[in-house]
Amino acid sequence: MARVAVVTGGSRGIGAAISIALKAAGYSVAANYAGNDEAAEAFKKETGIPVYKWSVADYDDCKAGIEKIEADLGPVDVLVNNAGITRDGMFHRMTPDMWKAVIDTNLTGLFNMTHQVWPGMRERKFGRVINISSINGQKGQAGQANYSAAKAGDLGFTKALAQEGARAGITVNAICPGYIGTDMVMAVPEKVREQIIAQIPVGRLGEPDEIARCVAFLASDDAGFITGSTISANGGQFMS
Ligand code: NDP
Repeated sequence: MARVAVVTGGSRGIGAAISIALKAAGYSVAANYAGNDEAAEAFKKETGIPVYKWSVADYDDCKAGIEKIEADLGPVDVLVNNAGITRDGMFHRMTPDMWKAVIDTNLTGLFNMTHQVWPGMRERKFGRVINISSINGQKGQAGQANYSAAKAGDLGFTKALAQEGARAGITVNAICPGYIGTDMVMAVPEKVREQIIAQIPVGRLGEPDEIARCVAFLASDDAGFITGSTISANGGQFMS
């Protein structure tokens, strides 16, 4: 039986590349998304990967979503916490709503999702949890106090949970992408994007596939001794 993988935010951008890579590696994949039905339906049609709509920011919706996926595909072996948003602004202009939206999705979303699959992984003595953090959680970024805090929190969550899961055969790892050419980054004004690229030693944005291949490796049996780790995939922009 194929292992079952759930990818949050799995219908667009980096998440779509992850869903496709895991399907190609033989997993039975479910892609979650939040609201962009058009993109999700196009993704489903193109890839044959089923899509499931709910917000990772809502605990009860995550519970119901995972129950539905497990009824359709079977117990979840691999969880990729990829869904993320930005609400950028300098701190003196950042509203409580901007703070809360980013923390609820990018940090609490990991609790809401992982909590649903963790007991089953412990029982079956196998699991892979892969959290998509960010270079800006490692180094901080002006205009992103909310995002940097959430993404740094994802790394603490990864390391704590890796210790709890180790004896139960569950690995928990994080990937910190640098700037990748998705809608999130293409929404940044071109001039700012050019300034960002100038700071990347390899001289280009990353490709979603370059993150997806890291995920496929961490999900595989070959990565069984790797837990609590962070892979920095950022073209050399930040070396921690
Ligand atoms: P995109 O904006 O291209 O896609 C985001 C995906 O997340 C979409 O599928 C979206 O669903 C989904 N999503 C957003 N909010 C929620 C929610 N509350 N519940 C469920 N799904 C949600 O983002 P990227 O592909 O660029 O980013 C993916 C991850 O990688 C994020 O965590 C991001 O922070 C991180 N990252 C990205 C970098 C980059 O340069 N692009 C750099 C470093 C990290 P819908 O389609 O319905 O809107």
